[in-house]
Amino acid sequence: MAGEVIIDEQRCFGCGYCVYFCPQGCLERKIDKISSLGYALPELTKPEQCNGCGACVRMCPRWAIKVNLLSEEQDKTGIIKKEVAGPPEIVSEAPLAGCPGCQHPTVGRIILEVIDEMGINEETIVLDGIPCSISSALSMDFGQKLAYDENASDLATTIKHDSPDTNVIAVQGYWGLSDFSFNINSLIGTLIRGEKFTIILCNTPFYGPKEGRPAAVNEPAEEMLESKTMISTPDGQKLITGGYYLHIAELVSTFKGVAYSARCALTSLKDYQLTKKYIRAAIRKQTDNVGLSFVEVLCPCCDPSFSAPVDSLKWIEEKMIKEFPLGEFKSLG
Ligand code: SF4
Ligand code: SF4
Repeated sequence: MAGEVIIDEQRCFGCGYCVYFCPQGCLERKIDKISSLGYALPELTKPEQCNGCGACVRMCPRWAIKVNLLSEEQDKTGIIKKEVAGPPEIVSEAPLAGCPGCQHPTVGRIILEVIDEMGINEETIVLDGIPCSISSALSMDFGQKLAYDENASDLATTIKHDSPDTNVIAVQGYWGLSDFSFNINSLIGTLIRGEKFTIILCNTPFYGPKEGRPAAVNEPAEEMLESKTMISTPDGQKLITGGYYLHIAELVSTFKGVAYSARCALTSLKDYQLTKKYIRAAIRKQTDNVGLSFVEVLCPCCDPSFSAPVDSLKWIEEKMIKEFPLGEFKSLG
């Protein structure tokens, strides 16, 4: 047996996650292998060690990898090729937005997998409220999807009232969902009214694409308060933030109309499976009409403070999870 890893060079952004997550150590990124987009591409350097586990496929935020297992079949000629993992079935050819290492599309992939496995493609609407990665929703080739900037939970409310049998999933960033200056009002209103749809929050430590601004909801560690961003906080975030942390998954769980609330991360393949389990449980609460369901996913944005995307994953694992514990905070019904 040997593996064959096929990289879509038009999707790969050279983040190195596939190399980092391969349990067999059979992938390498070489700086002499540059794509037409300008990124260093990974290469399968030890095909005989590849066992077709698919970790690289699932952890690739660009949906850029397909893995085949090759085997010599006895008494017959030729090589038997068996595809073991690739992009989700319902992914279209549309290009993905985002930056190298941004895990928003990984969250999108998990939502797609769950929708597909539950067989609810036709009666589900996904609202992508993260402006910089809206095309991860547009790349989903199923039923209906809408891209929407900022307050996706307001639009989700309207759709759910108008069409109660439709499953509505609002994917939001911390800015669109919980910024103190205005957007958190929308979330609190949603919780007080006891709406019955699903919110997936991508809780990212920094606004990478937005000039490196710090996030209002998560100043989890001293190190983070000291950290400098490119434009808005060149002298450190402490100058403009301070105060206490906002733990949204815990806050959401205190509202009576909430059926499910959980927090997870994407720093390992085990976490990927756990995130999928939580997202499936959340969508199930909606299909069973139990109440509002909420999942917060800790995932990196494009972060100018780190030299490589993999470092931001390590930072989440070592620092952020200490302040934002993972797990289920509420599960009714
Ligand atoms: S399928 Fe598994 S073993 Fe093979 S390259 Fe990908 S992560 Fe490594
Ligand atoms: S994880 Fe995906 S985008 Fe990142 S280097 Fe590997 S193939 Fe490219």
